[in-house]
Amino acid sequence: MSSRRIGVMGGTFDPVHHGHLVAASEVQNRFGLDEVIFVPTGQPWQKVDRVVSKAEDRYLMTVIATASNPVFSVSRVDVDREGQTFTVDTLRDLHTEYPDDELFFITGADALEQILTWRDADELFKYAHFIGVTRPGYQLDDHHLPKGKVSLVEVTAMAISSTGVRERVGSGEPVWYLVPDGVVRYIDKRRLYRQET
Ligand code: ATP
Ligand code: MG
Repeated sequence: MSSRRIGVMGGTFDPVHHGHLVAASEVQNRFGLDEVIFVPTGQPWQKVDRVVSKAEDRYLMTVIATASNPVFSVSRVDVDREGQTFTVDTLRDLHTEYPDDELFFITGADALEQILTWRDADELFKYAHFIGVTRPGYQLDDHHLPKGKVSLVEVTAMAISSTGVRERVGSGEPVWYLVPDGVVRYIDKRRLYRQET
């Protein structure tokens, strides 16, 4: 079997939004990827100062958002693994699942900087090439990044964040067109991000 090029898009996806989808689509095209796998993180008890939605809700919203794209898929590796998600575990598991394929880990440039300062950085590069997508208002300082292992891609400025979407839902503002229609419906159905919950 010939080697495929697989993008791996990790995230909390609480909720997944059009910034994530545009970034994944842009990188898929730019790097000629055969598939992009979205990987929602497992359940952290907290992310800095807030409770993160249940992994199953974040997983399902990601499935809803990606279902119509034939080259997008969603993996449960992080959702199904016990404990906090570390990128090295994600990549090790996907490498085990796709041993003959080339992995490209796609991440926002902000997150990239943190990942690469972790002590597992060397192991990460064994499994994947890293693609940092720059978000609006973010300037990446790349001189300490290892050469040949990390690419930076500027993605159409989309000032959408999950934080912004949650805040809008919490204050009763619309999130149509910031997230896919099915995700708007799912947030409503499950009453996610309401202040009283
Ligand atoms: P939060 O506001 O809760 O931090 P988020 O919008 O950053 O959420 P994450 O699930 O944390 O979403 O992001 C997953 C990945 O997508 C990260 O690598 C992040 O940097 C990247 N990303 C998030 N928003 C965008 C965007 N608008 N354009 C490009 N990349 C993005
Ligand atoms: Mg974030």
